[in-house]
Amino acid sequence: MSLVITDLHAQLEDGTEILKGVSLEIPAGEVHAIMGPNGSGKSTLSKVIAGHEGYEVTAGSVTLDGEDILEMGIDERSRAGIFLAFQYPAEVPGVSNANFIRAALQARLPKGEEIDAVGYYKSLYDKMDLLEMDRKFTGRAVNEGFSGGEKKRNEILQMLMLEPKYCIMDETDSGLDIDALKIVAKGVNAMRSPDRGMLLITHYQRLLDYIKPDVVHVMSAGRIVKTGGPDLALELEEKGYDFLKELAPA
Ligand code: ADP
Ligand code: MG
Ligand code: MG
Repeated sequence: MSLVITDLHAQLEDGTEILKGVSLEIPAGEVHAIMGPNGSGKSTLSKVIAGHEGYEVTAGSVTLDGEDILEMGIDERSRAGIFLAFQYPAEVPGVSNANFIRAALQARLPKGEEIDAVGYYKSLYDKMDLLEMDRKFTGRAVNEGFSGGEKKRNEILQMLMLEPKYCIMDETDSGLDIDALKIVAKGVNAMRSPDRGMLLITHYQRLLDYIKPDVVHVMSAGRIVKTGGPDLALELEEKGYDFLKELAPA
């Protein structure tokens, strides 16, 4: 069981190639981190895996537990078990958080089956307690007027409720305050499971103080240029991204 990315090339609609042959395997049970300078293609990689529009895959493959997902639409990929969190969480005006998550869960059930409301709210409240979220939150519209930290907590709540097989988290560079970061880490750590693979994308090492990855990859100019253990994140923090210039192929 794994998410396998092989020699992935992707370009923008204007033909600019952003991903220049990314290969990466995330087995279920592991947490991988991708670090790298701004503009190296980290967010593009996450969006191409999730199936966002605006990028054309010109070569390579992405398989989820052996199944080719590149031909699937964004919703289909989500139902297959891919979850992409962060970076630009969308507002959904007029739809409450509780109903939004419930609808997403309902969409995953076989036709004719209904979500049990009592069980649903129990599970929702348990997870909100873990994330130290106020109950009032359930009635608010999705991300409308939320602070950055609230949006991220909300994304983690969605992730906890949907229980995806593979979670991709693309951290914003603006960052969270330390309390919000710890809570996000708590949610992510609660999701760690032998049945689940996780990919954390981060520009900074800070998040990895709270979520210890099994494997760290460094991305530069559209390629993975180095892979190592958790210590690689510390090495990067120490040396900065400048030393990548020696590693990155011309
Ligand atoms: P990172 O997340 O590592 O900072 P991105 O994937 O966001 O990198 O961006 C990689 C490069 O591709 C950047 O030069 C960025 O400007 C460009 N890029 C990505 N998506 C788009 C887009 N939709 N339109 C124009 N340029 C884009
Ligand atoms: Mg960026
Ligand atoms: Mg990015």
